[in-house]
Amino acid sequence: MAATSRGTTPVPPDVRPRLTVLSGPSGVGKSTVVAHMRKVHPEVWLSVSATTRKPRPGERHGVQYFFVSDEEFDKLVANGELLEWAEFAGNRYGTPRRAVADRLEAGEPVLLEIDLQGARLVRESMPEAQLVFLAPPSWDELVRRLTGRGTEAPDVIERRLEAAKIELAAEAEFDTTLVNTSVEDVARELLALMEVA
Ligand code: 5GP
Repeated sequence: MAATSRGTTPVPPDVRPRLTVLSGPSGVGKSTVVAHMRKVHPEVWLSVSATTRKPRPGERHGVQYFFVSDEEFDKLVANGELLEWAEFAGNRYGTPRRAVADRLEAGEPVLLEIDLQGARLVRESMPEAQLVFLAPPSWDELVRRLTGRGTEAPDVIERRLEAAKIELAAEAEFDTTLVNTSVEDVARELLALMEVA
């Protein structure tokens, strides 16, 4: 008699990746791309991370981030409430686990905009996730964008540029690279990868 498997649900081979991770060096324009994408497709759900960084002018709690204290972040980590977290340029950032799980269970596409360390952690825990790398058109352009943003002190910019060198070297770990020459084009390409449009 042929062996039968019980208690396992066969996974169809054409299952679409529902979780997409967008990563790339600080200053490359990840949040601009995501903001544009959501303007065109407001139904695309983006995870809101928790961070110990202080809000920049115009940033609001619960919109760009959940701005929390060090103690609050410690608690989120201790309680296992973060899907992944990393320290980046002197602050901690993490993805709330529950909200992501709820959306994935509902079969909705989920987008995470996180740093390289976070992308690696997601790859480990959710190998089916699709990892997208956003690259700058050139190094000089990245320096220009990071410096020109005017939101960070010189020592912070220095730290972010150091991190950027490491992040750029990791491009090959990603499934796809998008070069940020035009916000509209990259947003469209990202939506296509997420199979939203
Ligand atoms: P910023 O301070 O410029 O908003 O973000 C700094 C870096 O942290 C960016 O590369 C951003 O993608 C990343 N980041 C934002 N949220 C998360 C998160 O939840 N987890 C991880 N690992 N990185 C994050």
